[in-house]
Amino acid sequence: MPDSMILFDPTDFLALEGVDDYERLTGQRNPFWNRARLESIWSLPKMAGLLESSSIRLQPMRLATREELGIFHDPSYIETMELFGNMGSAFSARFGLDTEECPVFLEMDKYASYPVGSAIDAMMAVAEGKAKTAMSIFGGLHHALESKAAGFCYYNDCVIALKKYREKYPENKILYLDTDVHHGDGTQHAFYNDPNVLTISTHELSMGFFPGTGRPEEIGIGDGKGYSVNVPLPPLTDDFAFWKAFEEVVVPLWLAYRPDIVFWEIGADAHYGDPLADLMLTMDTYQRMSRTVRQLAYLGECGVVAVGGGGYNPVIASKIFSLIIADLAGVALPPSLPADWIELCREFGLGIHRGGWTDRPVKMSCEHEPKIMRVVDETIKKVKELVFPIIGVESLDVE
Ligand SMILES: [Zn+2]
Repeated sequence: MPDSMILFDPTDFLALEGVDDYERLTGQRNPFWNRARLESIWSLPKMAGLLESSSIRLQPMRLATREELGIFHDPSYIETMELFGNMGSAFSARFGLDTEECPVFLEMDKYASYPVGSAIDAMMAVAEGKAKTAMSIFGGLHHALESKAAGFCYYNDCVIALKKYREKYPENKILYLDTDVHHGDGTQHAFYNDPNVLTISTHELSMGFFPGTGRPEEIGIGDGKGYSVNVPLPPLTDDFAFWKAFEEVVVPLWLAYRPDIVFWEIGADAHYGDPLADLMLTMDTYQRMSRTVRQLAYLGECGVVAVGGGGYNPVIASKIFSLIIADLAGVALPPSLPADWIELCREFGLGIHRGGWTDRPVKMSCEHEPKIMRVVDETIKKVKELVFPIIGVESLDVE
């Protein structure tokens, strides 16, 4: 019997000290690479007792080899990462490094490499039937390009894991589902002409919002035309509008495409409490999304690899990832948040106002609602017209 879930244990990754060094030297907390975020996220499933379940098997995160990184990244970029990671400082914005979002800090090459090794192992374990699901919470660095860091991402674990899988199973089809609030631009770019990787990204798109791509018209090129799907959503999109898009676009595409494996970049940053984005999702939608992914995977007999992605309110991100671990592995959560975890968050200066897993229902205000629904409806219609016939979704259902 395969394990229900392989969960990547970040003990070695968390033992690196580069993020602490960075905070000490600069007096700044990077929104992604900071101790409070990393520790609170990993401590919650642990303190909630999820790891004691026999349905979850822990496997250590591991560094990727140079050869593995080279599957996608440029050798000179990898060398620069290693060089700067050793020195812990740089004075060059070349390669997109040394920016506010992608600072140069000690061991950053290792921080970037652990998720890659883990994503490859996750993909292979699921492909080989060792587990139905594998999850790497600190993965999902979907913005990194061949020789450019962007949006907290240095190495693209998603692309490398998918490419590695494509090498071994060239005939198989991968569904890359990206529900992070930011467009999955790096991954889309890597497979833009590949019909064996269907990328679907739901994300916020608004003036000045990072990375600024992901319009419905970006549908792929050559043989890959129709296999890049983008569902941009306006600020203030709530559970109802998001779910409409998910149900009408993601579900039928998944069913029509019949993937052999699904790679899910979750992204806890579409939640209304996220400080870097403007969507209004609640835990309910994450719960529903996880359940739907699990059920569609079960129906289609395909495995699921899940990676955490963004999420810049550490308390919310921790809750979302734990909720999804519990759901995908079929383990029950305790009725309330563990007291020792709340204490740990307070020590890191993270405020917790509610002791439960859920949050208040949020609804956009009446004055915005019709406008947002109209924009979302138009997007859904456009995506259906552009890609449904190519993927072979039978009922177009365009009103
Ligand atoms: Zn994001």
